[in-house]
Amino acid sequence: MSDKPKSQTVLVVGGGIGGISAALEAAECGSEVVLIEKAPTLGGRVAALNRYFPKMCHPTCGLEINYQRIKKNPRIKVFTMAEVSGISGAAGDYTVTVTTTPRFVTPACTACGDCASAATSEVADPFNYNLSKVKAAYLPHTMAFPMRYIVDASVVGTPEGQAIKAACKLNAVNLDEKPDSFTLSVGAVIWATGWRPYDPNKLTMYRYADLADVITNVEMERLASHDGPTKGKVLRPSNNEAPKKVALIQCAGSRDLNHLAYCSRICCLASMKHAAYVREQYPEAEVDIYYIDIRAHDKLEAFYRKAKADPGIRWIKSKPSRIEKGAAGEPVVCGENTLSREVYANAYDLVVLATGMQASAQPPAGAELDEYGFVVSEEGVFGAGVATGPLDVSMSVQSATAAALRAVQAVRS
Ligand SMILES: Cc1cc2nc3c(=O)[nH]c(=O)nc-3n(C[C@H](O)[C@H](O)[C@H](O)COP(=O)(O)OP(=O)(O)OC[C@H]3O[C@@H](n4cnc5c(N)ncnc54)[C@H](O)[C@@H]3O)c2cc1C
Repeated sequence: MSDKPKSQTVLVVGGGIGGISAALEAAECGSEVVLIEKAPTLGGRVAALNRYFPKMCHPTCGLEINYQRIKKNPRIKVFTMAEVSGISGAAGDYTVTVTTTPRFVTPACTACGDCASAATSEVADPFNYNLSKVKAAYLPHTMAFPMRYIVDASVVGTPEGQAIKAACKLNAVNLDEKPDSFTLSVGAVIWATGWRPYDPNKLTMYRYADLADVITNVEMERLASHDGPTKGKVLRPSNNEAPKKVALIQCAGSRDLNHLAYCSRICCLASMKHAAYVREQYPEAEVDIYYIDIRAHDKLEAFYRKAKADPGIRWIKSKPSRIEKGAAGEPVVCGENTLSREVYANAYDLVVLATGMQASAQPPAGAELDEYGFVVSEEGVFGAGVATGPLDVSMSVQSATAAALRAVQAVRS
């Protein structure tokens, strides 16, 4: 690194809880910060959770305070629908090219919803992991930050697009927006690009693709959310009926050399949370948790003990070998109980695959990565949150605070 950094600005890439925390900590220490997020809103995967452990709060309770801190801090500039397309230079003196995707809605939007009323077509809702559809002009979700609509590119150049534009009294719909780019001069980069769920279609033995009542843990979060596809009711996707018997399969693809060789650390706890969602909604329902061994790290042991005390939750030490299709199309979980040696074939109304956390699809440019694609911090380039490996929210915030401190030191030294 040169003796004196050329730029004192810190760039944070990724606006999940990790990136938000890093941006705030660096800005509150006096650094200028640019925060860029590829999605239309901040919040990352946490915004799509129903509630989060250990306190089982709604994600809004943690995120909203941070949004207020961002709004009040003039040192943070936020760009959504933006990604890094190029980076060159060295610690203290990076030139970064940022590319933006059109939203077709300007900051004049007040989220009144007139554009959505004028829209006639629907598109898959990425916030609900495509389990539902939204109008082609939509608010990304009810707690979106920024609270601004987006027009889907599929209606640009169509009569529907014109109707959407005409419906906006504030003239905030701009269908002429094009992809754009700009350059930044920054002294340090924090990669907080988080994670994506492991693709359940790769787990062919669990038949996610052809059994409607086999879902993943992230989909379970949306089913249980009040603003999710079923308005918070955990229902069987095949028939919208309440499940009476639910299986949660741990390590679905994790700790498996054919898929993700590592443990994602939070899936056991997430499944205990899912057991609680089911048991709260349906006190008569039975939940079976299939596990290799339970990993409830640090202080979250208490969360595990609470789940253990629930007589409606059965713990089956086994990694199921496959899921078969029952006579009525229901999933039948098959395998061997490693304690009792019993060979089982248990039918369920709903099966939830606890798939793990994989590094973001797009590797952070210019960052060193470990064998699994997670960021390894080095001089001038730091990882934060799950971009560095599987972490829960509190650990992500801790790692982001550490990254912010290192970035602030890098741009000041
Ligand atoms: C099923 C499940 C349930 C969970 N429940 C809990 C819980 O109850 N409690 C808990 O503590 N933890 C829970 N977690 C873990 C929690 O989701 C993570 O700790 C948290 O998401 C980490 O935040 P992050 O900011 O590091 O990553 P993310 O939330 O993934 O955010 C990363 C952000 O970066 C953006 N991004 C990615 N690539 C780019 C790019 N190239 N350019 C710009 N932006 C980019 C993404 O769009 C995203 O907004 C759960 C995880 C799972 C799988």
